Amino acid sequence: MSGSSTPETEAEITGATTRRRPRPEILEVGGRRLSPSTLMMGHAYDPALSEGSLKPPIFLTSTFVFENAAAGKRHFEGVTGKRPGGVDGLVYSRFNGPNQEILEDRLGIWEDAEDALVFSSGMSAIATLMLALVKPGDVIVHSAPLYAATETLIGRILGRFGVTFLDFPAGATEDEIAAVIERAKAQGNVSLIYLESPANPTNALVDIEAVSRVRDRLLGDTVPPIAIDNTFLGPLWQQPLRHGADLVVYSLTKYAGGHSDLVAGGISGAKKWIDPVRMMRNTIGTICDPNTAWMLLRSLETLELRMSRAGENAAKVCAFLRDHSKVESVGYLGFLGEGSRQADIYQRHCSGAGSTFSLYLKGGERESFAFLDNLKIAKLAVSLGGTETLASCPAAMTHLSVPDQRKQDLGITDNLVRISIGVENADDLIADFDQALGAV
Ligand SMILES: *Cc1c(COP(=O)(O)O)cnc(C)c1O
Repeated sequence: MSGSSTPETEAEITGATTRRRPRPEILEVGGRRLSPSTLMMGHAYDPALSEGSLKPPIFLTSTFVFENAAAGKRHFEGVTGKRPGGVDGLVYSRFNGPNQEILEDRLGIWEDAEDALVFSSGMSAIATLMLALVKPGDVIVHSAPLYAATETLIGRILGRFGVTFLDFPAGATEDEIAAVIERAKAQGNVSLIYLESPANPTNALVDIEAVSRVRDRLLGDTVPPIAIDNTFLGPLWQQPLRHGADLVVYSLTKYAGGHSDLVAGGISGAKKWIDPVRMMRNTIGTICDPNTAWMLLRSLETLELRMSRAGENAAKVCAFLRDHSKVESVGYLGFLGEGSRQADIYQRHCSGAGSTFSLYLKGGERESFAFLDNLKIAKLAVSLGGTETLASCPAAMTHLSVPDQRKQDLGITDNLVRISIGVENADDLIADFDQALGAV
């Protein structure tokens, strides 16, 4: 096969930085900088462009009409990079669409990000990011454990294309991280540092500031980006761009979507790194659809309300569970030992303990299952971050296929129940957990 391509297919492949017309941006009023919660109601959408419709319509179209032939040519000059500055309008729905662009602008607001992208799932966001940033011979350095599908992607899928990896435990010290990066340098070109914090289900926090310092010190010539999966605490309780990360990755399926009714992903961060990821997304078509984007716009309007309430509920529920006679321990970020390294990271990086935690019951699988089977309000399901409280048993469900030794290292024991607290009434939840524990 020849490696050459026609200008048309070239355009399809590079599909650069497509952007629609300038959007309204009222970021402050009377000198007061507006908060994300306020901006979620109107930022980046002009009703006058849609017959005065208060909410953006869902733009169900596969392509966009050019004003004239010259405008079409101008778009494609931008798409192919023949003209600097990228595309200034809407072209084709694999590249962009009004709903997705409004969503991207609003998603970026939460972390003051230069740019943001949305995807069809958290995993398609992660896969697109990695395809854009690594090549054969490269090494990915990552914190461990990662979301299981992310580990599969790095180890088994990218491994087939000559990409290798080295990892360090999420709670590693600066010296331990440096040692792993030194070894990675000897192994190949380190092109990506990929973190997930807190880790699931250990809740171990990664010291992002330490990773960033080590990166700058040891990889100064190449400076690979630091990307972090912030699904568990973001964007409300942890904002890694402020601590040295370049890209923040989300499964928007979880807290951002928040209603357990959609699957989507997002990436926010520096334009320098977002641009190649956008090109890859344009090429392979991992953008989220307009309907999902619209639902996420709805979700972002209540993000702070939902996450705040869920966080308050979790604090009350964990305080109750911690002292219960049938409970061995509660792995909750709000209970980190004062003066510990983890507490130090928490104080520097996090503004809240989240609402997803690990409950260790006294006993084993029999006790976990009895507890789960007796819950009346909380639902028995995997996933997290929705309005409703969910509970599951990782050893028997999400992590069933993980080898026994690794399960033990990660603290994934049969008596572990993973809980994501929702926005119900906290006392109702406590009553539910109390009666389910009573039935164990
Ligand atoms: C759910 C999840 C993902 C994957 O997201 P999908 O939207 O299911 O593709 C990635 N990382 C974390 C931490 C998650 O919880």
